[in-house]
Amino acid sequence: MKRAAPILKKVAKVAAPVASARLAAKKAAPRKPVGKAPKGYNPLTPARVSEILERLDERYPAATCALHHKSAWELLAATILSAQCTDVRVNMVTPVLFEKYPTVEAFAALKPEELEPDIRSTGFFRNKSKSLVGAARKLVSEFGGEVPRTMDELLQLPGVARKTANVVLGTYFKIADGVVVDTHVTRISRRLELTRNTDPQKIEQDLMNVLPRDKWIVFAHQIILHGRAICVARSPKCADCPLENLCHAADKTWSTVEIHNAAKP
Ligand code: SF4
Repeated sequence: MKRAAPILKKVAKVAAPVASARLAAKKAAPRKPVGKAPKGYNPLTPARVSEILERLDERYPAATCALHHKSAWELLAATILSAQCTDVRVNMVTPVLFEKYPTVEAFAALKPEELEPDIRSTGFFRNKSKSLVGAARKLVSEFGGEVPRTMDELLQLPGVARKTANVVLGTYFKIADGVVVDTHVTRISRRLELTRNTDPQKIEQDLMNVLPRDKWIVFAHQIILHGRAICVARSPKCADCPLENLCHAADKTWSTVEIHNAAKP
């Protein structure tokens, strides 16, 4: 075992030169120096925003919500469960959960503690149990067991903030009332200088101002895919990014354009 480390190092050294020429060229390409954006530069011109949207459409033509669901309630519940948890994990939990408790009424009849074991693996299960049971009870007592279709009504449900409401309105009811702002949308909208804010509500407002309304729903789905595949939090894969020459983010890993100090994740 003691001799394994040097051998592995040797293999790594030999393997590096045989990496594809494209990859080597990309790695060798310099990052342009970080500086202030040129005077008069406006990242929010309609032409630039349209170009970003067109390239996202090309790369992610079928982007949609990754949470499996068969009803508005199932999507609402899955979105509550997805906080601080991967969609993959939620999709493992919900089929069993919705078979055990098939209706809103079944959830409303539970005590939150009874739900906890079923959702434990999604994390924060105590709060999530309270939210799910609380939301189900409110739906039964005040909305006839149906998930409402307005932002104001959705925000009355325990555990539901604008992000969850936007997911349900946009994905299930196809109502563009706002833009889903999660961690990916926050990071990438800032890198692309579509916003300078860090507060989700202000970011959403900025995006609603800069994006055409018919893109509010799909934009978030596309950016979430982009954030998972390419524009990851650390070491984004800029050399593979369809938006590369439109992006001036200070933390780019590879760039053909100048990088701006103000464009930070
Ligand atoms: S170029 Fe890099 S930082 Fe900019 S959007 Fe693409 S992956 Fe993200």
